[in-house]
Amino acid sequence: MTELLALIFSWQLLLLSLIAQIIVGLLIADFASGFFHWLEDRYGGPDWPIVGGLVRATIRHHKKPRRMLNSAFWHRSGPTLLIAVCFGLVFLSLGWLNLMTITALAFGSMANEIHNWSHCKPSECGPVVTWLQKKRVFISPLDHARHHREKKNTYYCTVTGWMNPVLERIRFWRKVEAVIRIVARSRPRRDPTVRRRPVLV
Ligand SMILES: [Zn+2]
Ligand SMILES: [Zn+2]
Repeated sequence: MTELLALIFSWQLLLLSLIAQIIVGLLIADFASGFFHWLEDRYGGPDWPIVGGLVRATIRHHKKPRRMLNSAFWHRSGPTLLIAVCFGLVFLSLGWLNLMTITALAFGSMANEIHNWSHCKPSECGPVVTWLQKKRVFISPLDHARHHREKKNTYYCTVTGWMNPVLERIRFWRKVEAVIRIVARSRPRRDPTVRRRPVLV
């Protein structure tokens, strides 16, 4: 009897550990999507070699958010897949591949695709994606719309969106920008789609 209880307990522990690894992997993927998005939006130069094209794509996306629905899968998700493969090879060589890192890589590689779905109508996404958005596994259109409001300098994470309220509450991106301003004397790039406030005299 005690052996059976010990077996059940060890199975429960294993199950809990697997669920925890998946959740942490999703949090990492969400944060990574926000980090790269923030870098592009705030510090990326549209004229930079190689990555300048990605920055121009995000500026176009801020101007016309739904236009990305018409782009090809490889155009949208090729760069994130490439980044995930590079990280995957590094993790493999270091022996760091496990359920947590594989979840982070799998969802991180699909970050722009999940972002793309957050601009779809339910009829365009299909029932499975819409259901996952309603269950908050994928970021919902309403949650992602917060990024496209006003200054476009909040709610950068685009996988699950779970990290967004936490990062905004602690003003994470503003604090990192303040540190960069002091250390590197570099200010964030002004988004051309954000209207300057009129100067009141
Ligand atoms: Zn953006
Ligand atoms: Zn968007």
